[in-house]
Amino acid sequence: MNTELSKNANNPGTNADQRSLVDPFARPISYLRVSVTDRCDLRCVYCMAEDMTFLPKADILSLEELDRLCSAFVDLGVRKLRLTGGEPLVRKNIMWLIRRLGRHLDTGALDELTLTSNGTQLARYADALADAGVRRINISLDTLDPNKFRAITRWGDLDQVLDGIAAARKAGLAIKINTVALRGVNDDEIDRLIAWCGECDFDLTFIEVMPMGEIGEQRLDQYLPLSMVRADLLKRWTLTESDHSTGGPARYFDLEETGQRLGFITPLTHNFCESCNRVRLTCTGTLFMCLGQDDAADLRAPLRAGEDDALLAEAIHEAIGRKPKGHDFVIDRRSNAPAVGRHMSVTGG
Ligand code: SAM
Ligand code: SF4
Repeated sequence: MNTELSKNANNPGTNADQRSLVDPFARPISYLRVSVTDRCDLRCVYCMAEDMTFLPKADILSLEELDRLCSAFVDLGVRKLRLTGGEPLVRKNIMWLIRRLGRHLDTGALDELTLTSNGTQLARYADALADAGVRRINISLDTLDPNKFRAITRWGDLDQVLDGIAAARKAGLAIKINTVALRGVNDDEIDRLIAWCGECDFDLTFIEVMPMGEIGEQRLDQYLPLSMVRADLLKRWTLTESDHSTGGPARYFDLEETGQRLGFITPLTHNFCESCNRVRLTCTGTLFMCLGQDDAADLRAPLRAGEDDALLAEAIHEAIGRKPKGHDFVIDRRSNAPAVGRHMSVTGG
């Protein structure tokens, strides 16, 4: 369902007063996701190769530079910031950046400051996150079975994540669990995950595995179309399509039996690009205008060219003017190569 988007060829990337970002297909860009590090304390099999090579520390922007970049986007009308990674909570002094960005919540310039995390460090950080103004958090969890968890993450400890989730809950953070649907791995646990999230009052979103980066495994073996998951769920649960939207890629369904909301992110079986409101910044200052395309803009050079943000704003407008209509993800027997060479951890999903 790819609705035709009208191309605003006369005015790409800008609106009249230059204080907001609108892409060539008239989509307002109000959401920035920032991968604050490409490093992670886990190695999920669909995300990274076991022997990942990480960026040299010298290439990574400082926290001060990340603050300046994020703040430039806020000045240009971005209303929502999500920190991700790699694992955002393994970046040294990350709370400094989060507290610093919290000032935009205080002024009302930002509606939401949030994170996507694997949960391993949450027991340590949950209270500080809540203090800094974070109200909700997405936590990735693909299984409730400790052995499977270790196999999926290559060495993770499920209890550490469950403790982190408990701490986040205690700190009053609203929690959404993200689960990547993996054929032959967690397809038998879908009902259990739904029931557990229902009991804990967590939202739950299922994600289709996306063909990003070489991972030393066959994507086709991992890929479980969510259309199949949903069809199977309908045999046991009553799902009604909901008009709830976060302006993002998920389609939501209300689950009558538990009163929960279930999300489905289906880049492969249902293209979601027509409502895309987001761009992604890496920890080296590269801006990706689309998760599924290679085109990118370097913001580090204009950032470092001087203290004035004018050059930076110009570079951001120019980049938004190049935002493509959508991605071309496909996983089948003929196209088993990654759609893009970079791993998900570069842009953080
Ligand atoms: N480390 C954090 C975490 O796991 O939540 C944040 C970064 S992680 C790259 C963000 C999300 O991307 C996670 O929910 C993860 O499951 C998902 N992800 C990673 N690689 C993926 C892939 N190839 N296809 C679909 N989702 C993927
Ligand atoms: Fe790390 Fe998140 Fe990727 Fe898993 S999905 S390896 S936790 S970045």
